[in-house]
Amino acid sequence: MKKFQKALTASGVLVVALSAALNFSPAQAAGTCLENTRGFLFVPQTTISDSTPNIFWQTFPGCMSGVKYSIQYGQYAPITVGSSGSRSLSFPETATVKLIASHQGVKKELAASTIIRGDVYTYDFSDGLAKKIRDHRAPTLKAKEVSSNIFGSLTETRKRKLIGKVMEVQIFPTGKKLTDLPDFEHLEDDTTGGTVDRDYANLPGIGGIAISGTNRIATPISEVELDEQSDSAAYPIGYVLTHELGHTVLDHVASDLKPKIDELRKNRINANLDFLGTDSYTRSTEHEYWAEGAAALFATPIAEQYRNEYTAKWLTDNDAKLLTQLKSVFFK
Ligand SMILES: [Zn+2]
Repeated sequence: MKKFQKALTASGVLVVALSAALNFSPAQAAGTCLENTRGFLFVPQTTISDSTPNIFWQTFPGCMSGVKYSIQYGQYAPITVGSSGSRSLSFPETATVKLIASHQGVKKELAASTIIRGDVYTYDFSDGLAKKIRDHRAPTLKAKEVSSNIFGSLTETRKRKLIGKVMEVQIFPTGKKLTDLPDFEHLEDDTTGGTVDRDYANLPGIGGIAISGTNRIATPISEVELDEQSDSAAYPIGYVLTHELGHTVLDHVASDLKPKIDELRKNRINANLDFLGTDSYTRSTEHEYWAEGAAALFATPIAEQYRNEYTAKWLTDNDAKLLTQLKSVFFK
């Protein structure tokens, strides 16, 4: 990085020398200076539940002096910063962080990157009430890993669809039902409807549900499906959450793709082609077809016997059209 900075600083000096030689007016010089000012922002998506994500930036001024920098995000007032550095930011809702340069009252956006914010938590039911808790046990760590893989792989354009939203993963403990969670109690006697009609109370998870009256989009998930030590998991560990977050992404980040996904699915049925994993389930709706495709992209099979199918390679060789759609959303 140092070498690169030196090279660019040298070219910055050259620009100043040139503009002086050509006798630019101050306004023209300001334009030239900002036009030549560059900057990068690095925003790692570690987990959605990092309360203070770290950002890093580096700038290369287009002239010798007078360029000022600031960081802007969400509804917060801009923070004046130096030409390079790192900083942890604290904000609850998904927002785009922008690196801005200004020179003689003119501003330029140098870089922008969206950080998806949210929470991963479970509940303690020991006193008869559902008490929200955060812990560092294996299921929570697994949920953080899976959700950061999924959300961290979204393209910048797709991430921006979640601005202002809080993405939650709610883990329900062993022995409890999905509908024991406060946000999902109202589904207690309800069924999913659709081709494979099931009771919500018996599901190991559901794709992100917008919680009415809030900016939260919550994905409930069974603890046993996140615990490598559990012997009662119905699926390989991590599969259910990956699949459900696949639904979350299609519904809240990529809903414009639904007609296309459904067209691909129907063409495949008509051509009598193979589907990922359990064919009858994968081909049942555009939603399941997409969610299983996402599970394959993230190499988490619905069952061990299908591990060879749940890969990007299988998609490349067998369903390249679905892979193209997945890659318009995930940069994996
Ligand atoms: Zn599903």
